[in-house]
Amino acid sequence: KAEIDRWVSQVIKPEQIERYLVNGHDFIDDSFIQETLLKNKNPDKSRIREIIAKSLELQRLEPEETAALLNCEDEELWEEMYKAGGQIKEKVYGRRIVFFAPLYISNYCVNSCVYCGFRSENDKSIRKQLTMEEVAAEVRALVSKGHKRLIVVFGEHPLSDVHFIAKTLETVYSTKEGRGEIRRCNVNAAPMSIEDLEILRDVGIGTFQVFQETYHHETYKKLHPRGIKANYGWRLYALHRAMEAGVDDVGIGALFGLYDPKFEVMGLLMHTIDLEKRFGGVGPHTISFPRLEPASNTPFTRKSKYLVDDKTFKKLVTVIRLSVPYTGMILTARETPEVRRDIIPVGVTQIDAGSNIGIGAYSTDTVDYDRQQFILGDNRSLDEVIREMAESGRITSFCTADYRCGRTGNYFMDIAKKGKIHHLCMPNAILTFKEYLLDYASEETKKVGEKLIQKELEALPSEALRNTVKEMLTRIEKGERDLFL
Ligand code: SAM
Ligand code: SF4
Repeated sequence: KAEIDRWVSQVIKPEQIERYLVNGHDFIDDSFIQETLLKNKNPDKSRIREIIAKSLELQRLEPEETAALLNCEDEELWEEMYKAGGQIKEKVYGRRIVFFAPLYISNYCVNSCVYCGFRSENDKSIRKQLTMEEVAAEVRALVSKGHKRLIVVFGEHPLSDVHFIAKTLETVYSTKEGRGEIRRCNVNAAPMSIEDLEILRDVGIGTFQVFQETYHHETYKKLHPRGIKANYGWRLYALHRAMEAGVDDVGIGALFGLYDPKFEVMGLLMHTIDLEKRFGGVGPHTISFPRLEPASNTPFTRKSKYLVDDKTFKKLVTVIRLSVPYTGMILTARETPEVRRDIIPVGVTQIDAGSNIGIGAYSTDTVDYDRQQFILGDNRSLDEVIREMAESGRITSFCTADYRCGRTGNYFMDIAKKGKIHHLCMPNAILTFKEYLLDYASEETKKVGEKLIQKELEALPSEALRNTVKEMLTRIEKGERDLFL
């Protein structure tokens, strides 16, 4: 206990919060957000349509515009927004959808987030941290299903400090199974110092994700009563520090169900604006919008008065899409297949499938509620979800070329903002999808998938590009792997 207390007292570096404050304040001004939401009540039709037109030109919205969208009550206009969300996504990212899997490494945690099954007070939670051998076994199980991209997830604890996280990344990248391997490993972990983030940059972290959970200061304080996470500022600037450390793909998020969801969408926008302002126009690489799920022995998850229903959730996701047109958007398997079918078309770019969030559960193929954080809504296999996507005209991408070719941060944002990602990314989606079909897919998925590849080849922007991709497909058929533009 004394050792943990000593560690906890050393984690936060106050000067690495203060350096970002303006006149002693952070960039989330609760009254400004409340007033902006109030001032933009009852927006008229023409205003909403002007804002939609701005989003369709791939311009990031201003707070008063996002507030107006959030306050729209006209269902006809919402239908227009859903459609625009899908169009924006297609303009920037094409008809591809990126797949990843979550890999929970440790549920030891010193914090007390009232909504999380891993909170330190939960004495019913069975604690477990994977050894490196166990990490490798999990990775082999995931790779054998066809995964190429992971997000590794950790509680906050001295046992899973930065050195342990770095070792995990090294193990993930060095584990091979058959013809496959993990090519991009993202991290969802507690906020760190710039020095620690430099260690993760050097081992090749993909995106670093930290969700603010709630941007509302008072609610934040109530729901994070103790531990390191009680410090709002340390968390709010976690991704500023990551950018300074050279980890230039960062993922923000809010946990819907803790406070007024309109406020949270405004918070996500303010976060985006501050990152853009300070880091040469580079905003978040991804935005996540988890909804609160029931967690074992965690009563708050069922009694929160801000739980978000499915219809409202779709609207919130749509406003995020319209507000930050160039960012990646992640919808996880917390949601049921029905909700995912309904929401993916409004502009989601990344999903997980075949997920198991029990610690050590991929290799043992078990579901263990006492060791997992909450209960998943979509338990379908990777192959099933990939097939469904293909049937709806969405091509699965396991592409990881952007990160390995240095197309991250500024470079990535520049091509994303110009709507050019699909000149590189659609071909890479085709190539990685082909690998999946050859190495892992069921016969049924192969049939649907091959048809889709032919369709997407025809849709490539030039004959020259089409020929290049066709040649690469032939090389893949002959046994080469990991080809990309
Ligand atoms: N410990 C790190 C942290 O808190 O940032 C990372 C791991 S934490 C398990 C990852 C995310 O899970 C949190 O940021 C939170 O948004 C989400 N989460 C926690 N409890 C949840 C619940 N009951 N339902 C849905 N998501 C939850
Ligand atoms: Fe720990 Fe993260 Fe869960 Fe909070 S959300 S209790 S910090 S694992």
